[in-house]
Amino acid sequence: MIKYVPEMTSVVLEEIPDRVTLAVEISNCRGNCTGCHSPFLRQDVGAPLTPAVIDALVRDNFGVNCFLFLGEGQDPETLLALAAHVRALGMPAALYSGRAEVEEAVWAAFDYVKVGPYLPERGPLNDRNTNQRLYRALGPDETETADLVKAGRKFRDMTARFWRRGIDPLK
Ligand code: SF4
Repeated sequence: MIKYVPEMTSVVLEEIPDRVTLAVEISNCRGNCTGCHSPFLRQDVGAPLTPAVIDALVRDNFGVNCFLFLGEGQDPETLLALAAHVRALGMPAALYSGRAEVEEAVWAAFDYVKVGPYLPERGPLNDRNTNQRLYRALGPDETETADLVKAGRKFRDMTARFWRRGIDPLK
C-alpha cells in the first residue's frame, strides 16, 4: 500500500517546469537524508493512495497536467501501478525520489524523475551546488540531446532550469 498525507496535497508550479502539477506527499519514506526536512514522512501516516483517490484528486483540481509523487513509500509494485494509472488519465507521472539511483522499472514508469538525497551542504534543486537532478523523458519526436538513457528511454537533465529561475522547490 502507498499512503499520502491528504492535508499536504497541493497544486504547484515550480516543482516540474512548464507543468501545472498536482503534488502528493508520500509517507513511509525509505530515504535516509541527513538533513531530512519532514521526518514524519518516514512514519506510517496518512491515507491510502488508490486509483480512485487519484481520480478524485484530479477531478477536484481541474486543469492540472502532471501528477507528482513526492516520495516513493515502501511498496514499489503499487507505486508503479499508480504511475501507470496516472498515465492512463493522459498526464505525465512524476517522482521525487530521495534515493541516489532508482531501478529501471522506475525510469520506465515515470516521465519526470528526481534523484538524489537532500544534503544540507549541497542544497536543493535550485542550488547550483546541489547533488540532486531532475530528468524529463524525451518524447519520440524530440531531437534534444539526451543526458541519460534508462529503460530504453532518453532523458534530459532539467536541473539547470531551477538555477535560472531562482525558485524554491521542495527539497
Ligand atoms: S526523501 Fe529524505 S528528506 Fe524527504 S522525507 Fe525522505 S528522508 Fe526526509
